Amino acid sequence: MTAVRQVSEAVSDGSFSVGLVGGSVQAAAGALAGSGANAFYGVEGPEFDVSRYASDATAAEALVRKTGATVVVVPATSRFSRAIPGVVQRVEGRIDTHVTAVNVEDGRPSIERWYYRQRMVATLARAQRPWFLLIDAGVFAAWSGAGGAAKVEAVAAELPDLRTRVEGEQAASAEAQTIRPDADLLFVAGAGWTKKQQDGQTHLKDAESLIWDFLQKSRASLGSSKSLVDQSAEGEDVISFMSHVNQVGQTGSTPRHLKGLATCCHGEEPHVVGWRFIKERRAVNLDAGCGWAQGKADVLYVADAFKVMAKVNEVLGNS
Ligand SMILES: Cc1cc2nc3c(=O)[nH]c(=O)nc-3n(C[C@H](O)[C@H](O)[C@H](O)COP(=O)(O)OP(=O)(O)OC[C@H]3O[C@@H](n4cnc5c(N)ncnc54)[C@H](O)[C@@H]3O)c2cc1C
Repeated sequence: MTAVRQVSEAVSDGSFSVGLVGGSVQAAAGALAGSGANAFYGVEGPEFDVSRYASDATAAEALVRKTGATVVVVPATSRFSRAIPGVVQRVEGRIDTHVTAVNVEDGRPSIERWYYRQRMVATLARAQRPWFLLIDAGVFAAWSGAGGAAKVEAVAAELPDLRTRVEGEQAASAEAQTIRPDADLLFVAGAGWTKKQQDGQTHLKDAESLIWDFLQKSRASLGSSKSLVDQSAEGEDVISFMSHVNQVGQTGSTPRHLKGLATCCHGEEPHVVGWRFIKERRAVNLDAGCGWAQGKADVLYVADAFKVMAKVNEVLGNS
């Protein structure tokens, strides 16, 4: 909504419509009643309650045709990231994904988007309409305003023959669930968790259970340094629920969480690339001269991460 309001100032003097898709959309419209929207349109019914390409694309197409929107701002949820590209084809529009900023110059909107693993940022403007912008979560501050009564105009969407019947939802496996893009906190584990500790021994099982316990209690997303995930390829003992998809950094992912906590990780430059968008950074390391101390963390706790995380888990367990 914050993005919509910004774009609409540039393209339509602040006027915009809200399109909603779902089993029942009245509650969502009510929550946005104070947003300044001119009109609310909804495609609703049991077939639109579930995430499915055919019904989602049909609903979104009907809304775009009904409103005649020239710029369509869509949240980059998995549901709409999947359905919207097809809608763009049907209405002969253009799309930009992973939009990280919207700027306005001389009344014309342009967007920012990163390329080559976040090494280059591009500014793009397009003449073709409708122009669809998929906005990544966390890029704009969440809009907050008064709810109230909103009148929703029902829009008919004619469903094609549905080949997919949604029978229910199943949670992803425990491994996949360690990556939680919507979590406030990114917890990064480094290779130090598997290294010999002060007693001359490694403590992999302790590391595993401390990290797992913390993830369960905090619902943080799990990231890893390259050194830690590479250990599996070298045949060394590894943390069982960690894989290459957890890797953060220049050759890994660049997640967008509000806060980050690095543990047993040196914090070298390639890794810091992966933290580009993390706003509040803290680290726990035994070495007061580690990379995080060189201006890369807001707070560095010079401490044993095994002890710190045991205490944190104890505190979280009691809260
Ligand atoms: C081209 C290129 C691309 C790369 N891309 C990436 C990338 O995308 N992501 C990435 O992560 N790396 C990347 N790297 C590797 C990177 O340079 C580092 O080698 C790597 O990040 C180091 O991982 P680490 O900090 O976990 O391990 P280490 O450097 O081994 O650091 C372990 C740390 O743990 C600390 N420690 C040990 N025990 C404890 C304890 N009990 N409590 C607290 N602290 C403890 C130690 O003091 C040490 O600082 C790249 C390298 C190259 C050349």
